[in-house]
Amino acid sequence: MPAPDRVHLDHAATTALRPGALAAFAEAAALPGNPAALHASARRAKLRLEQDRERIATALGADPVEVVLTSGGTEADNLAVQGLYRARRAQDPARTRIVLTGVEHHAVLDTVAWLAAHEGAEAVVVPVDAASRVDLTAWEAALAQAPERTALAALMWANNEVGTVQPVAEAARAAAAHGVPLHTDAVQAVGAVPVDFAASGAGTLALSGHKLGAPVGVGALLVRRDLTLEPVLHGGGQERRLRSGTVSVALAAALAAALVEAVADQPAEARRLGRLRDEVIAAVDAAPGMDLTGPRDVDPATGAPLPAGTRRLPGNVHVTVPGVSADALLFRCDTAGLDTSSGSACTAGVAAPSHVLEAMGLAERARSTQRFTLGRTTTAADVARLVQALPGLAAPARRRRHP
Ligand code: PLP
Repeated sequence: MPAPDRVHLDHAATTALRPGALAAFAEAAALPGNPAALHASARRAKLRLEQDRERIATALGADPVEVVLTSGGTEADNLAVQGLYRARRAQDPARTRIVLTGVEHHAVLDTVAWLAAHEGAEAVVVPVDAASRVDLTAWEAALAQAPERTALAALMWANNEVGTVQPVAEAARAAAAHGVPLHTDAVQAVGAVPVDFAASGAGTLALSGHKLGAPVGVGALLVRRDLTLEPVLHGGGQERRLRSGTVSVALAAALAAALVEAVADQPAEARRLGRLRDEVIAAVDAAPGMDLTGPRDVDPATGAPLPAGTRRLPGNVHVTVPGVSADALLFRCDTAGLDTSSGSACTAGVAAPSHVLEAMGLAERARSTQRFTLGRTTTAADVARLVQALPGLAAPARRRRHP
C-alpha cells in the first residue's frame, strides 16, 4: 500500500499484493516437500501445485499442461522468443525472420535484438499508427512476403506505456494462415481486459504475477500443446522440460489466487477504472500545453464511445507536455504527492526517450512523457488529486541558472 500522504498512480509498474494471494502463499509455503520428489509430502506439494496450475489455466482459457511457470514476464518473453526461434530454426535453418512491432516491451525487443546480433535473426518491424495500433495490412504483407523464412511473430496484447490494446486475434489468424506461431506479451492485459488463450489463436502468451496482485518473482508462459520450444534453462527438466528449476509451490499458489480474483473482478473493474480514467482524460483535454497519447475508447469511424478496454487499457492515461522533460514532470508529480512514471525505460534514474513514441511517429515528444496508471486500490479521491495537479504540470520549464 502507498504511504498515506502519497497517491500511487503507477499500477502498471507494480500493484499492491492482494490479501488472498498472500494467504494462499502462506498456506502453500507451509507444505514441506519438493513437488518433483516422490515421497508422500512431495506428492501433497505436487497436488497443490497441479490444482493451482489448473486454476491458472481455467482463468485464462488454457489447458493445465499449457501453463509453464516462470519467474515473471521477462523470463516468459525470453523463453517464448528464444525458444520458438531456436526450435523453428532447428526444424528449418532458413527460418530466421521475426515479425514484430516497434512498440513491444524491451523483454521482447531486446531479446530479438540479441538473436539478431548473435544467432542470425532478422527483425521485420511492422509499422504502428499514431495511436500505437499495429497496421494489420502491413502485418499481413510482412508475413506473406516470406512465410517459409519466418520463425515467429510477436505482438503484445496491450502496451505498457500508452495502453493500446492490439488486435491479437486478427494478427494471430494472419500468422496462422502462413503457418507462423504468434507470441503475445499479455503482461499488461491479463486482469485488465478479457484474455482467452485458446480463443486468441496465439501460440504462446506471457503474464506476470506482480501486475495482478501476486508477489514479484512469479509469472507464466502459456505454450500451446502442439508447439515445440527450445528451453532456455537446462537442468532437472521441470515444467514440461521447458523451464528447469524447482518450482515454488507457494508462488504458484499466490499467482493462482491473484489471477482468479483479478479475472473475476475484471468486468466491473474495467467499468470503474474506465470512468476514473475518462475523468483524467477530460482534465488532460482541458489543460493547456498537454496532449493525450495513445488511443481513446471510441469507434474511430463514428466517434461513438466503446466499452472501456476496447482500444485502450481502462487504467491507462499517458500524456506528453512539449517543452517539459519527463524528469521534470516526474518531479512535479512527486512534489504534488503523486507516484507516477515517465512511462519509458530509465537508465541510471534518467528517463530514456520512449521507443514506443518514436515508433508512433512522435519522436519529438519522446522525452516529454508522463504515465498515470490506475488500479485496484485507486479511489475517486486519488483521481481528484491528480486532476487538481494536472494544470500545474504544463508550466514552462524554468531555465537553469548558470554560475
Ligand atoms: N512485458 C510488459 C508489457 C511489461 O509491462 C512488463 C513489466 O513492466 C514486462 C513484460 C516484464 O515483466 P516482469 O516485471 O514480470 O519481468
